[in-house]
Amino acid sequence: MSHTVPVTDLRSAIECLKQYEGEYLETNEPVNPEAELSGVYRYVGAGGTVARPTRTGPALMFNAVKGYPDFRVLIGLLSSRQRVARLLGVAKEELGFLLKQSVDKAIAPVLVTNDSAPCQEVIHLASSPDFDLRKLLPAPTNTPEDAGPYFTMGMAYAADPETGEHDVTIHRLCVQGKDEISMYFVPGRHLDQFRIKAEQAGKPLPITISIGVDPAIEIGACFEPPTTPLGYDELAIAGGLRGKAVELVNGVAVDARAIAHAEVVIEGELVPNYGVQEDQNTGTGKAMPEFPGYTGEAKSNVPVIKVKAVTHRREPILQTCIGASDEHTNLAGIPTEASILGMTERALPGFVLNVHCPSPGTGKYVAVLQVKKRSANDEGRQRQAALLAFAAFSELKHVFLVDEDVDLFDLSDVMWAMTTRYQGDVDTIFVPGVRCHPLDPSQDPAFSPSIRDHGISCKTIYDCTVPYKLKHNFERSKFMEVDVSRFIPGFKP
Ligand code: MN
Repeated sequence: MSHTVPVTDLRSAIECLKQYEGEYLETNEPVNPEAELSGVYRYVGAGGTVARPTRTGPALMFNAVKGYPDFRVLIGLLSSRQRVARLLGVAKEELGFLLKQSVDKAIAPVLVTNDSAPCQEVIHLASSPDFDLRKLLPAPTNTPEDAGPYFTMGMAYAADPETGEHDVTIHRLCVQGKDEISMYFVPGRHLDQFRIKAEQAGKPLPITISIGVDPAIEIGACFEPPTTPLGYDELAIAGGLRGKAVELVNGVAVDARAIAHAEVVIEGELVPNYGVQEDQNTGTGKAMPEFPGYTGEAKSNVPVIKVKAVTHRREPILQTCIGASDEHTNLAGIPTEASILGMTERALPGFVLNVHCPSPGTGKYVAVLQVKKRSANDEGRQRQAALLAFAAFSELKHVFLVDEDVDLFDLSDVMWAMTTRYQGDVDTIFVPGVRCHPLDPSQDPAFSPSIRDHGISCKTIYDCTVPYKLKHNFERSKFMEVDVSRFIPGFKP
């Protein structure tokens, strides 16, 4: 699986993909970033929770973006698990283990000088009278009813104003004016805690948004507590993944650090005691397509980044994604797999064989755990493993448990286990009233009498494993081992 092109930034990631059939496409047809660009990619490769028809397909580079002659736009870099595996240099079944190891071998980022940072080859200061974010960067508006243009793949990076510890996270960022971007936080996010600390001290929080980086950074940035608690710089996981520290550079206009090899960096400050209505420019009531497959509602009093500068590489690429695409499954789901594997391996060594956070589960809401009951004493441990999974990732809603002879990456096989190894009344375990995640619209008091507040849910375990003492009744039909290539030359199973 190892590839000959080492991946160190977005450009080398694209070169890596060009080695394979069907992973990367370019188009020279001029595209409108307002709704049209995402409309195209919905058909080409979005997948995920996007309304059908959609499919898994190549990453797509738009070489000609109407109104923005200096920029190209790339969409869908991580919207296939196979492609992520190729970019990280392992088999797609091994990604959760690779990420878990990267947490164990984390390497802290390092600072490089400004003149060695490609992201600062071109500098636009917001103090210049003709500075206008809306004319400078081709942020796509994903559907005609969205609140505005969004940066969807920005690595937001800032420091805790009290401790100096850093955090990196991807957030929904809407262009609101010539030098303003709204930044929506789900309550409790680490960067929001930094912002609140700064605000309580009456100060702005310097922040950078790095767009178009090594995909190892994009996936590493999506770890959440308890794997990466408050104060844990997730850039260290990307360092562990590549065996080399991520390089940072000081901003040109703010006291904050950015990712040196990024295509584009937005520098700014989160303004204290100032928020905007997210859809103030459109009044649609909508934000943008979110990962559960619905368009999020526009929020009020959303914090604002006052932009101080935009820097970029020469011939820059703006990277974007569709929030509901499989890109989200991979970004959120692979770290979730790693977090669950980390927790179960510590508590129940050798019992959980693998974990998969599949596409319809958005990466956050569903996990399939494959276990192996080795003796009568392992009966019931599968349910303990499910409880550990909930502890490893608080936003997880459903856990499916399957045996070692079920392919957890093939949801048809998982559904087969649910059909023949599951009885609803004895194999469904409810844990109601637990705080989960606000973007699942069913997690609402109007939906269920057991839900006391929006974002609370009933966590559920579907135990599709065979009771240990009945295993002999559940052996799958055994076919003869054969060499198919004798019959069909070149055949690979
Ligand atoms: Mn964090």
